[in-house]
Amino acid sequence: VRRNPGESEFHQAVREVLESVVPVLHRHPEYADAKIIDRICEPERQIIFRVPWEDDRGEVHINRGFRVEFNSALGPYKGGLRFHPSVYLGIVKFLGFEQVFKNALTGMPIGGGKGGSDFDPKGRSDREVMRFCQSFITELYRHIGEYTDVPAGDIGVGGREIGYMFGQYKRITNRYESGVLTGKGLSYGGAQVRREATGYGLVFFAEEMLRAVGAGLDGKKVVVSGSGNVAIYAIEKVHQLGGTVVACSDSSGYVVDDTGIDVALLRDLKEVRRFRIGDYVTERPHARFVAGRSVWEVPCQVALPCATQNEIGAAEAASLIGGGCIVVVEGANMPTTPEAVRAFAEAKVRFVPGKAANAGGVAASALEMQQNASRDSWTFEHSEQRLREIMRDIHDRCFATAEEYGMPGNYVAGANIEGFRNVAEAMLAHGLI
Ligand code: NDP
Repeated sequence: VRRNPGESEFHQAVREVLESVVPVLHRHPEYADAKIIDRICEPERQIIFRVPWEDDRGEVHINRGFRVEFNSALGPYKGGLRFHPSVYLGIVKFLGFEQVFKNALTGMPIGGGKGGSDFDPKGRSDREVMRFCQSFITELYRHIGEYTDVPAGDIGVGGREIGYMFGQYKRITNRYESGVLTGKGLSYGGAQVRREATGYGLVFFAEEMLRAVGAGLDGKKVVVSGSGNVAIYAIEKVHQLGGTVVACSDSSGYVVDDTGIDVALLRDLKEVRRFRIGDYVTERPHARFVAGRSVWEVPCQVALPCATQNEIGAAEAASLIGGGCIVVVEGANMPTTPEAVRAFAEAKVRFVPGKAANAGGVAASALEMQQNASRDSWTFEHSEQRLREIMRDIHDRCFATAEEYGMPGNYVAGANIEGFRNVAEAMLAHGLI
């Protein structure tokens, strides 16, 4: 805390991992001798830069850009870029730290990093977003590359932004380096199922977890927060597996549609027209919009938080528990506060942390890198099958690790210990660097 003042989200993420790995340190004194904990909490490199750009009226804006290259023990730094006004170093570090363990859980050769900017894309024209992305990458390009650091999307960064950044990277480096960014469009090196991967993977994980207790998603009433990339494809997959998503949200409020959220309409409103969630009810008058309130007041059996950090606090947890929720699986990164996690544990609500449940996105990014490197492109079906296998494997390893450490059913401990062990082993092998 003293070395990283004011970075509350980073402190929260570190505390959660360190609390889980205490028993590992007892079993492995060599980790303590090599000061693995001190090293793992210190990013290998942090880059902060100025991003100047001009809006459509000719007014000049200055934003701040970040890239935190956290840990490369397992492979090149890998993790998304977030464009949101709340972005500052503490958010980027918490996301980068989580990413290190998440990427280790995928079993793929990728290290952890994260980046972004306090730029707010909301209400900006395509040309403004393009100018911002070009300015952002004009600095970031010197730090990234197929073998060093491979960014992707996150909040506020989707296919449009990745396209603009890829174009500018190609232009200023004179290299068609497909593997430098993931989440690319299918016409220029993108991979099938990358767009869907985080949401689909989350639901595959939820299905595995329910299966472990003899249940499934079929017939379940589900609430999803957010209505962005992760939320949309989580809703789609829940419906394919027989559940019904009755509510979703954005930062203006939430909609309830008891007949099940219409995914085609949601995609059109959010991905094409870039509208607000309230516009859903203009086209579906039987649905209702509730402005300015939390979607977690809607009763459900399965909760999939897919918006942002700390969206479920003690009050939201109490309302979920009161509404009969039995399972919470995190699609977003750290959407649940420590108080809410404790409340779920006391109420015997099964809980899965994002670093396990939302790892499908980065796993599909690693598959995109694999296809780029081999100049190959797989079918949708094959890619989805690979994603399903990866999520099953992550589930099984978290589950088995929690049992091994005497905490059956504790996915937080299972994910943290399993991810940490993999990174620590590699760091030990590399010597003191
Ligand atoms: P998007 O930008 O596509 O969507 C984010 C959604 O969450 C929007 O509906 C947005 O509403 C809402 N939201 C964002 N910030 C807030 C806030 N402060 N308060 C209320 N609502 C908010 O992002 P993604 O779907 O890509 O990301 C969602 C979460 O999933 C993030 O935590 C991200 O880190 C995580 N994640 C994403 C991955 C990916 O592959 N994209 C991979 C792994 C994790 P509004 O438009 O009103 O802001």
